[in-house]
Amino acid sequence: MTATRPAPARTSDARPAWVTERKLASWTRWVACPVSGGVETLTATAPYDAGPTAQVPACTAADVAAAVETARTAQPAWALLTHDARAAVVLRFHDLLVERQDEVLDLIQWEMGKARFHAWQEVLQVGNLARHYARHGRAYLADTRVRPPVPAVTKVREVRRPKGVVGIIAPWNYPLYLGVGDTIPALVAGNAVVVKADPQTPLTLLWTRALMAEAGLPEHVWEVVAGPGAATGEALVDHVDFVSFTGSTATGRLVAERAARRLIGASLELGGKNPLVVRADADIAQAARGTVLAAFANTGQMCIHIERVIVHTDVYDEFTDALRAATSGQRLGQTYDFSCDVGPLASQAQLDKVSGHVADAVAKGATVLAGGRPRPEIGPYAYAPTVLEGVTGDMGLCLGETFGPVVALYRARDDADALRIANQGTAGLSASVFSKDLASADAFARRIRAGSVNINDGAALAAGTVEAGMGGVGDSGLGRRHGAEGIRKYTDAQTVATSRIGPIGPPPGTPLERFVAMGNAQLRALRRLRVR
Ligand code: NAD
Repeated sequence: MTATRPAPARTSDARPAWVTERKLASWTRWVACPVSGGVETLTATAPYDAGPTAQVPACTAADVAAAVETARTAQPAWALLTHDARAAVVLRFHDLLVERQDEVLDLIQWEMGKARFHAWQEVLQVGNLARHYARHGRAYLADTRVRPPVPAVTKVREVRRPKGVVGIIAPWNYPLYLGVGDTIPALVAGNAVVVKADPQTPLTLLWTRALMAEAGLPEHVWEVVAGPGAATGEALVDHVDFVSFTGSTATGRLVAERAARRLIGASLELGGKNPLVVRADADIAQAARGTVLAAFANTGQMCIHIERVIVHTDVYDEFTDALRAATSGQRLGQTYDFSCDVGPLASQAQLDKVSGHVADAVAKGATVLAGGRPRPEIGPYAYAPTVLEGVTGDMGLCLGETFGPVVALYRARDDADALRIANQGTAGLSASVFSKDLASADAFARRIRAGSVNINDGAALAAGTVEAGMGGVGDSGLGRRHGAEGIRKYTDAQTVATSRIGPIGPPPGTPLERFVAMGNAQLRALRRLRVR
């Protein structure tokens, strides 16, 4: 264990020194337990030393229901504010986040274990989302004037109304970005929000909630609930008006079924098995670097990270050498600074899953080209960045999501073969193509079944473009975050139609036959004039 901070006795030795009991209490007070009083608690395990992190109150189903009702009471006043007033809170939050980022970087690392650079990417992403929706939310939600059936005397507009109370469920792998990045557009659109903290990473979310209060967010507009994943999550889906879920495909299906029973909308950002294609004309050094950045980002615990690398046979050997060299250059460690490229896995469960996938593949004939083993001398959940080849369809990691720092290499005869391999399986989240011929790579990208495709970048470019939607197809989910869809999904469309001449229909005394003939003449004229 090489975490640099000394530790109070009762919690993990990796606890950052500035995290005092007083600070913890100032964050955990944000857990909404109005019914139970928070008698039950939950405690997560810090990845750097497998010691306990802080005790956090655990909500009951009744607490969750009450939290949603409290948020519902606070929502109308928030929605009545001007867009600029809501945006001002979000921009103040942005500034505080950038200023105080060291605190949240420490917390993310303590709770989740990732390398500091990957924690900083969460700050970067949330900062960009906050600024973007504060500045552009009004345009995304602006009234749209449409052509009415009776010109001049009628006017029809499509407007957007907030859903009401939005429930947000997000996993532990990006506790700041996924917990807060989806909350910001919901708030900007005039909703109240209830976020379920993941049991592994509640402190990051609670710190952020406290920061949003400093930025001026009214107290009950954003409620936080915590507790065992399934019970708390289900209770939330049972009461909110829309649910934004990020997590595994298996849980996403359960959430979708539960939301469907209540006829509420849901966006589902689920798992992936993302391919990166190296075409014959690729810049091999760039492709190897792009693979390492995208495969081992967040220790491979990133929905859009690369798990399958499909290489044209003409450049397979050259690429493999470059990838092995780049992989062995990765600095694995656990420090509260920027000296490591890759952190440990987040938990024993993650270590078991990743070790199990690699052991199964090796037992069935795969070859380890780099890594392939835990590194307990670095930390209890550390696992070496790993490259495999010879992976076949009977191995669990071939098409099952590993969610760890492991990539498998596949050899492709030509572009068609590469496309066939890339489109295997049922996931469709993110993909990547490396090629010097950008026009041809663009055409190739459009044939990959995935919600996003990066050309000459592994994963970050599309995900970091906050103006472009991000989401999956197939088993990778429904709906998008970021861009227009990332805020409009938190609203209901309403059509407001106004007549200056009273009810639309045959004027009093006009024979219906005459009115119908006029209507038919209008239909024919509009068709002739090519009116849309
Ligand atoms: P998970 O599905 O087990 O849990 C996700 C969240 O759902 C957690 O907060 C959990 O407490 C909660 N939950 C558990 N059971 C629930 C239920 N029955 N009802 C409601 N909520 C419930 O996922 P995980 O293993 O913690 O996270 C990793 C998965 O998330 C991976 O598959 C990864 O690909 C996916 N992910 C997807 C995206 C994306 O944007 N597409 C982003 C990050 C992670």
